[in-house]
Amino acid sequence: MLCYCNSQKDYHHCCEPYLLGIENPETAEQLMRSRYSAFVLANINYLMNSHHPQTRPTKERKAILKWAKSVHWKGLEIIDHKFGSVNDMDGYVEFKASFIENGEPGCIHENSHFVKENGKWYYESGIHK
Ligand SMILES: [Zn+2]
Repeated sequence: MLCYCNSQKDYHHCCEPYLLGIENPETAEQLMRSRYSAFVLANINYLMNSHHPQTRPTKERKAILKWAKSVHWKGLEIIDHKFGSVNDMDGYVEFKASFIENGEPGCIHENSHFVKENGKWYYESGIHK
């Protein structure tokens, strides 16, 4: 089965090891892709754990889960990325995530900022485009 994140790779060799906690993403883009897959699967634990503790929306946990389940995810497109490679400590990934919400097409176009702490990447914040 192809991965949800549109990598054209098999899910078992793409986002699944991250979502199961077997491996940690090595790049900011891998983390971004795995978070998209987590949205598709409404894996709220993964979304919370991969969100930097200082900006983690703990109070919105239920609302995020409800929203992730309510929309029909259509796909992910990576537009650009800056830094965020294996040897970087932070990075940016610009993406478009498309979905259908209440029968209407929607899209999140965001430039996300990722930071690496203790060898692990976290989503820190995002600027909507
Ligand atoms: Zn994937």
